[in-house]
Amino acid sequence: MGSQEVSTVDWQGKHVTVAGLGVSGIPAARALHERGALVTVVNDGDDERARAQAAELEALGITVRLGDGATLPPSTELVVTAPGWQPDKPLFLAAAEAGVDIWGDVELAWRLRGDNGRKAAPWLAVTGTNGKTTTVRMLASILEAAGLRTAAVGNIGVSLLDAVLGEQEYDVLAVELSSYQLHWAPSLRAHSAAVLNLAPDHLDWHGSMEAYAADKGRVYEGNTVACVYNAADPATEDLVREADVEEGCRAIGFTLGAPGPSQLGVVDGILVDRAFVKNRQKQAQELAEVSDVNPPAPHNIANALAAAALARAFGVEPAAVRDGLRNFRPDAHRIEHVADIDEVAYVDDSKATNTHATEASLAAYDSIVWIAGGLAKGATFDDLVTGAAKRLRGVVLMGADRALIHEALTRHAPEVPVVDLDRTDTGAMSEAVEHAARLARPGDTVLLAPACASMDMFTNYNKRGEAFADAVRARAETSA
Ligand code: ADP
Repeated sequence: MGSQEVSTVDWQGKHVTVAGLGVSGIPAARALHERGALVTVVNDGDDERARAQAAELEALGITVRLGDGATLPPSTELVVTAPGWQPDKPLFLAAAEAGVDIWGDVELAWRLRGDNGRKAAPWLAVTGTNGKTTTVRMLASILEAAGLRTAAVGNIGVSLLDAVLGEQEYDVLAVELSSYQLHWAPSLRAHSAAVLNLAPDHLDWHGSMEAYAADKGRVYEGNTVACVYNAADPATEDLVREADVEEGCRAIGFTLGAPGPSQLGVVDGILVDRAFVKNRQKQAQELAEVSDVNPPAPHNIANALAAAALARAFGVEPAAVRDGLRNFRPDAHRIEHVADIDEVAYVDDSKATNTHATEASLAAYDSIVWIAGGLAKGATFDDLVTGAAKRLRGVVLMGADRALIHEALTRHAPEVPVVDLDRTDTGAMSEAVEHAARLARPGDTVLLAPACASMDMFTNYNKRGEAFADAVRARAETSA
């Protein structure tokens, strides 16, 4: 069967076990039930919320088993799992032993697309350790500028299942995929896909760096037009080489330097395409200016090039790439400029929750007062600090694992002044901003890029970023 054709499954009377109530489990259970499957939902938790959700599903005729997500119901013919469930769970081991397939939410959406009689839109897929959401939003903005009916969906917080089964018809979908989702999506075949970068993350879930990379690499399987890789990150190119793609599918690189044939890159402040042009040995096509990228930080230009490559693979004209990039506004807490006070810029990159993201963030500014710390998730900070040491005016540390960063600073940047905040109450961020302001000189950037998760002090990275922005704005008012 051609990779872009829609597969059909006869769901009538099929025993399907859905693992996990939740954002993906509930719509999956409903969709399968509507198609005649005999659905049992199993869930580890048995709290009030789970009971309320269970009652709603049971009213439809779906069986729900709370408090036991480990045992496989005996008649199961297929398991559909929430992406976050760890592969070594007893439920999955039992399924594997019984020869029962396991699909994630993405696999289910891929299999069900088009079965409601609507056009099955091709997918342009994006994965990577960092930059996924930004790139997918840029891509959707470019596709919109080209007049295509599209949406940014997937790991971005918009359910793929809703997108493929909803009323709206699309010409193409911009799909963000996490490594977990790819792990459970064996038959997904995107039109074209990009792996933006690969750095160690979520290794506790995948078991090893090799397994993590292999799951990311699945995004290239069966691509029909382009596998987009990062020329500065050879591991992404290796994944293209290992992928089994459709005849004629091309490897397309992106680089912050001058592009070779079959690459997109940057020449004299211009984003250029040497891949989707008639004579790529001799010609290059101008797409946009670096200043069209918002913000024009190096890692973000890389994101823009990846988005442009996918759009060009889909046949989008250069002017739409430029317009789409110009229209794009980054999501909150991703290198978000909050205010300038006394010639110091205050920037919120609370979304930099790992060292790879923070490295990109620190590389975007020349002289920085860095606010960092939180939950390290097993990370080490030596490389990060060594790379940034020359550009650090000072550092303010907070959160549970701040000592790890402090020790790395002592080892690799002993001359950089460090303020170590030993408080985790709601006022801690205000104090951090006060210290940062004292350390900063005109022309500097005060950058919140914690390199850590936020949950030791905040509900999530959004709340952490908001606390920073509130503290900065309060300061702006008093100094005005
Ligand atoms: P994801 O969806 O992969 O988490 P986001 O687009 O939300 O990625 O960006 C998360 C953070 O990662 C940003 O705040 C920024 O610090 C960093 N980042 C974004 N793009 C890149 C990139 N291409 N390389 C490295 N870090 C990046």
